[in-house]
Amino acid sequence: MTQPAQLPAQLSDSLALLEKAISDACRAADRPRSEVELLAISKTHPAQTIVEAVSLGLHLFGESRVQEFASKATVLSVSHIPGFTPTVRSQMEVHFIGQLQSNKATKAVEVFDAIDSVDSLRLAERLNTAVSDSVVHTKPMPILLEIKLSHEASKTGLTPGSTELNELLDRLPTLRHLELQGLMTIGPLDVPEEETRACFRALHTLRGQLAQQRPRLNFPVLSMGMSSDFPVAIAEGATRIRVGTALFGPRENN
Ligand SMILES: *Cc1c(COP(=O)(O)O)cnc(C)c1O
Repeated sequence: MTQPAQLPAQLSDSLALLEKAISDACRAADRPRSEVELLAISKTHPAQTIVEAVSLGLHLFGESRVQEFASKATVLSVSHIPGFTPTVRSQMEVHFIGQLQSNKATKAVEVFDAIDSVDSLRLAERLNTAVSDSVVHTKPMPILLEIKLSHEASKTGLTPGSTELNELLDRLPTLRHLELQGLMTIGPLDVPEEETRACFRALHTLRGQLAQQRPRLNFPVLSMGMSSDFPVAIAEGATRIRVGTALFGPRENN
């Protein structure tokens, strides 16, 4: 019997391939696999896909729209994997990775476990207030600062050496409801690998500089690398990669 040529890939198959690629990249970089977290980017994909991903053992997820994930979360909060009592949502840690308008800070704090794309002082202040007012969050909200390192990449992010980044870093120790965990960047798309590598290396270097200048702050996390460039990111020290397409297939729109 012959198989149809274009069967959609099974999530378990793409996860196995991805795991192999991550392990290979870690081995090539002489780093333990345990140093690199996989953030599964489930944006645009339905709640059912997330349930399947959780049943395959994934637990870290990234989403880029507040309302989209709020809708999925209502489903996930009543979904169970056969044989498991806890809800699917309670087995997930969901990170916001998109552009967040300050006026959506309260809603974002309600539905997410971490905000990985803080790109302004104003947003950080709004998030701090929202967490402080929240009945859901009893602990500080983990955050990453999004850094803009290349012109080709996203328009958002804080520029190294800028007044705003410095002010934000000065303020962070007083924003007690936020817990800075590190830096995040989006690499340039469709450029030669060496440009991508330079961008990731620059984030790693910046982390070292900031950690030295700001002993009251901690920067353990370097979130960099997506489907097309995660091996380079792992080689350059990523501790968290954000993979969507290589796991869940192409998105209809972004
Ligand atoms: C969509 C998105 C990703 C995942 O991109 P893929 O190329 O599908 O792996 C990673 N990071 C951010 C910030 C995104 O918006």
